Amino acid sequence: MAKFDETYDWVVVGSGAGACISALVMQQAGKSVVILEKSPFFGGTTAKSGGVMWIPNNRFMHEDGEPDSIEAAMTYLDALQELDGGDAPGTSQEKRRAYFANAPKAIDFLCEQGVALRRGPAFWPDYYDELPGACKTSRTVVALPFNLKELGEYSDKIRPGFAPFNALLEEGMQAGHARTNPRAKKIMGRIALRTIRDKLLGRKYTTAGAALQGRLLKAALDAGIEIRLQAPVEELLIEGGNAAGVVTSTEGQRKRIGARLGVLVNAGGFAHNQAMRDKYAPGTRVEWTQAADCDTGEMIEELDRVGGKLAQMDQMVGYQSTLSPGWEQAYVAPGAQGMTGKPHAILVDQSGERFMNEGGSYELYCETMRKRNQSVPAIPSWAIFDRQYVEKYKVADKYIDKTIPDGWIEAGYLHKADTLEELADSIKIDPAKLSAMVSRWNGFVQAGEDKDFHRGEREYDNCGFVGDPFSDARSRGTIERGPFYAVPVIPGDVSTYGGVVTDSNGQVVGENGTPIGRLYATGTSSASVMGNVYAGAGSSIGPSLTFGYIAARHAAGLNSDHGGQND
Ligand SMILES: Cc1cc2nc3c(=O)[nH]c(=O)nc-3n(C[C@H](O)[C@H](O)[C@H](O)COP(=O)(O)OP(=O)(O)OC[C@H]3O[C@@H](n4cnc5c(N)ncnc54)[C@H](O)[C@@H]3O)c2cc1C
Repeated sequence: MAKFDETYDWVVVGSGAGACISALVMQQAGKSVVILEKSPFFGGTTAKSGGVMWIPNNRFMHEDGEPDSIEAAMTYLDALQELDGGDAPGTSQEKRRAYFANAPKAIDFLCEQGVALRRGPAFWPDYYDELPGACKTSRTVVALPFNLKELGEYSDKIRPGFAPFNALLEEGMQAGHARTNPRAKKIMGRIALRTIRDKLLGRKYTTAGAALQGRLLKAALDAGIEIRLQAPVEELLIEGGNAAGVVTSTEGQRKRIGARLGVLVNAGGFAHNQAMRDKYAPGTRVEWTQAADCDTGEMIEELDRVGGKLAQMDQMVGYQSTLSPGWEQAYVAPGAQGMTGKPHAILVDQSGERFMNEGGSYELYCETMRKRNQSVPAIPSWAIFDRQYVEKYKVADKYIDKTIPDGWIEAGYLHKADTLEELADSIKIDPAKLSAMVSRWNGFVQAGEDKDFHRGEREYDNCGFVGDPFSDARSRGTIERGPFYAVPVIPGDVSTYGGVVTDSNGQVVGENGTPIGRLYATGTSSASVMGNVYAGAGSSIGPSLTFGYIAARHAAGLNSDHGGQND
């Protein structure tokens, strides 16, 4: 009997952005490739996402005449690691340098393959933009909106995104400030006209992550790459210390597939696996994740079984949410960052105390809630806001100043009262404490400085994603005009952020610290090159793409530039 049923040069497990680019690199190098995706949809959580990639020093910044460099990005990420207490196992100076040297090249490579990309919203600063080397505009790259019909028989095979329309991300962000941005109506009108035109012409546009994955799938299909859906990988085959192939099963038929040059695991994390959460990130809940339902962690367990070293497994890409009645039916649960980071709102724990800068990164926000909860009940915490807030901004994706959605008050979700003291009573917080907290906040707003947590001092706090760049208040506004309101906020997530340790070639590192030959991993199957921090928008997909690119080049024996002095 043959050892393998089939053999390819490069076998890819999963279909994140790293999977796609690695397949394109290999195909172009004349190697045979197969992508094995377990779900009926291509694209993973990446397709469901915003599709933003954090790519310092990218070609679009250069085109805009904005200086950036590997050194600046290194300075920034080094400073972030120092803030976090040193290098986590999934990162190192060498690996970060490899990332920064290759991320812009990965983007150049995709552009050469005809994948239409552009700079992300120009006002999306790094999340710790007060640190040296940080960027105060945007290091992000995104895909242009994509007509799924271009995929032919695959047009309904991309995992649905959360933004199935023909709009740029910044248009969506600007239109989101419908009541303070004078241009919002015009932008919405433009999007509506495009939608009508597309309908008439039989186009099916999508944007964000689904556009990115749609465009990558199109490039892969055009290049003749073999893609198998509903082909779960059940086993990694290791022979003589090297990856030799995988075992997959399609329509109940098990197959051993050999891999001459290597196996790349880009199979996501474990956001939908409660047992793994209980083991590695206790206190977090499957129900709170927005990751795609295929994110079930079995390949991380398999990487562990074959001797890979796991690290940063307690890390999540946190995303604060407020679970309004009926949220279970929503494809993406209502986010709360755009709430408590906006003027006229703060977040307090169950003792009524404010405990963070509500404007910072969503990853840090949720981690701070989880840590706080170890000493003071803080899950859920309470978003506290006033009439001024509801006249300008949404609560759980809805304007509530004119009509409160049915059941919100009855279900105990929204609390509303004429005075702060009554509001405190309603959410079982000491009225004197909540009033004092709000007075303190109002004092900071009037003085123009948040002395406790420095909210509003970063550019990021004031950007369109978090604060309100269209109002003078930007991210700070008093809470003083009744009625007053409160809704619960929980530390949700958009994916997990730990996995197997890989080196600067994307090779899986074993428990003994040496790489397992021909076995590669990228994306949330691996421990992030960012360590325990989230540097800026796109800190998950940017590295997933880049280490897919690096891994394929390494396995194919192509010259790899790791940004070192000797390259
Ligand atoms: C609403 C939302 C918005 C987000 N926005 C952003 C953003 O803009 N930028 C950013 O960086 N991050 C964002 N994130 C987070 C980001 O989407 C994820 O962290 C990232 O996409 C994970 O990508 P990945 O490369 O690890 O693989 P994934 O995209 O998760 O793909 C993994 C694939 O592997 C498949 N798979 C799993 N097991 C197997 C198996 N045994 N055999 C075969 N296939 C398997 C899965 O079915 C899946 O299709 C967002 C997330 C959400 C939910």
